[in-house]
Amino acid sequence: MERVKCLIIGSGPAGYTAAIYASRANIAPVVYEGMQPGGQLTTTTDIENFPGYPEGINGFEMMEDLRKQAERFGADVRTGEITAIDLSKRPFKVVVDESTEIEAETVIISTGASAKYLGLADEKKYAGMGVSACATCDGFFYRGKTVAVVGGGDTACEEATYLSNLAKKVYMIVRKDYLRASKVMQERVASKDNIEILFNANTAGLFGNPAVEGARIVKFKGTPEETTLDIAIDGFFLAIGHKPNTDFLGGQIELDELGYIKTDGYTTATNVPGVFAAGDVADPRYRQAITAAGMGCKAALDVEKFLVENGIK
Ligand code: NDP
Repeated sequence: MERVKCLIIGSGPAGYTAAIYASRANIAPVVYEGMQPGGQLTTTTDIENFPGYPEGINGFEMMEDLRKQAERFGADVRTGEITAIDLSKRPFKVVVDESTEIEAETVIISTGASAKYLGLADEKKYAGMGVSACATCDGFFYRGKTVAVVGGGDTACEEATYLSNLAKKVYMIVRKDYLRASKVMQERVASKDNIEILFNANTAGLFGNPAVEGARIVKFKGTPEETTLDIAIDGFFLAIGHKPNTDFLGGQIELDELGYIKTDGYTTATNVPGVFAAGDVADPRYRQAITAAGMGCKAALDVEKFLVENGIK
């Protein structure tokens, strides 16, 4: 069975940065890219807040560059998903794509997070038929049409602004009476004539046949002013945050109350010696590309130290 010194699970900024550092330290890391090579940034528009790119950079290109940089120093980047893992003793055992078994002396978990859904049956019913959690992936299909974006954070504002350049009209469905997003994002939304914000609004359901043709909105839910209105839309975009991707761990790693991997605060160590976590999967607070990359760097340095301390050559 193949045995590796450092297995990196996930290929966002955290995973690739860990791979750059680990390969430069001669640890010969193996990276499994997972279901979405390059991670969430490959589905965003331009990244304007990563230091070093005064004009911004396309998310897909940036991840390509990070991968190439890791490979240049010898990181072995592979296609595949970790479908099972046994962290009960070292070397840890992992199964790739339900078939190949590998042993790993150390593991860096950098599996990121996935978009959350409201939990409406209609989201499943209309999956791929008007419901999406990625404006940059699917916005193209809604040129000249009407869409709605759910959420009031930075992601929702970013997606609404992006869609406003393609669609005829964009609704934002916001459950509170204010936007949580940063000032700069709010200003971008406010500068668009074709974005209408529905505050105090919740989505009760979607309708249409065979694809989405509208949404039923409840305003001021549970109060005497409660009203219901139907809006005609062709697309329904979720932008209500993310859930860390930890299901494959099967409860073997300690998580916090929100489901993020707990690290010891100062380092990237998890509760299992030899297992480290970096990026959005372990970061309920910052969730930025640059902070994920920083955590990836820390994880690789933590692995290096762990290997030395445990006499693993
Ligand atoms: P946030 O958690 O910041 O915002 C989620 C939004 O969705 C909130 O408005 C929340 O409402 C709403 N929401 C959550 N659950 C539901 C629900 N069940 N029904 C209706 N509405 C719901 O997530 P984001 O993805 O927007 O941002 C995550 C992080 O990434 C943030 O730190 C953000 O700053 C950062 N980010 C930065 C960007 C940039 O700077 N370029 C771009 C995108 C993200 P409520 O306010 O009521 O809780």
